[in-house]
Amino acid sequence: MNVQEKWEIVQQNIEEACLRSARNKEDVKVIAVTKYVSIQRMKEALEAGLDHIGESRAQDALPKAELLGNRGTWHFIGHLQTNKVKDVIEPFSYIHSLDRLSLAKEMNKRAEKLGKTISCFVQVNVSNEETKHGLAFNQVEDFIESLQDLPFIKVVGLMTMAPLVESPEEARPFFRELKQLLVLLQKRNWAHAPLQELSMGMSNDYQVAIEEGATFVRLGSCLVGE
Ligand SMILES: *Cc1c(COP(=O)(O)O)cnc(C)c1O
Repeated sequence: MNVQEKWEIVQQNIEEACLRSARNKEDVKVIAVTKYVSIQRMKEALEAGLDHIGESRAQDALPKAELLGNRGTWHFIGHLQTNKVKDVIEPFSYIHSLDRLSLAKEMNKRAEKLGKTISCFVQVNVSNEETKHGLAFNQVEDFIESLQDLPFIKVVGLMTMAPLVESPEEARPFFRELKQLLVLLQKRNWAHAPLQELSMGMSNDYQVAIEEGATFVRLGSCLVGE
């Protein structure tokens, strides 16, 4: 299937998930995760009207961004090494994997140099798996608080990767918990952390994530997979 055909199926599924949960489909944005696909496929995605592009490795993403003339809005969704910040800060508008203060400080410094504000998601390890990056639930509030003095960082929301489970239903409690944490933290009314977005849901579980409040879903195989 070409990207356009896959995108039509995904749109149908999003619409149905929104109907089931009384949400507006306009509130769900789709990131086409292109880490495994060719430039040709990326062009197809852009031409199909997909504007948000997700990449997880700096060394793969940078040449692609250049070839595409920086078309699209770029999301860095993988683990980010501090020494790569200087490379990703310009082409990427969103970083989904903020999980430590040293990284935040480096991003703030590099963003200031460019005169831009970088939009970030704080990554949360909802399932407490040792192999996963991200903060534990009880660390998130203090961490966001500690970013207040970094004026070039804006914390737009929380991000998570659900554990690999057999049925997407099993991921539901994790998505629900992340939404609850977001609602709790919104009460802090932080100027530096508007916390309006939830980046959760991938090819195997995005319908459930949407039902639980995702505003950005990150879709690779089901949308642009070859
Ligand atoms: C690869 C990746 C995705 C997309 O995965 P699919 O299962 O192909 O949809 C989403 N989020 C992150 C962080 C990823 O690394």
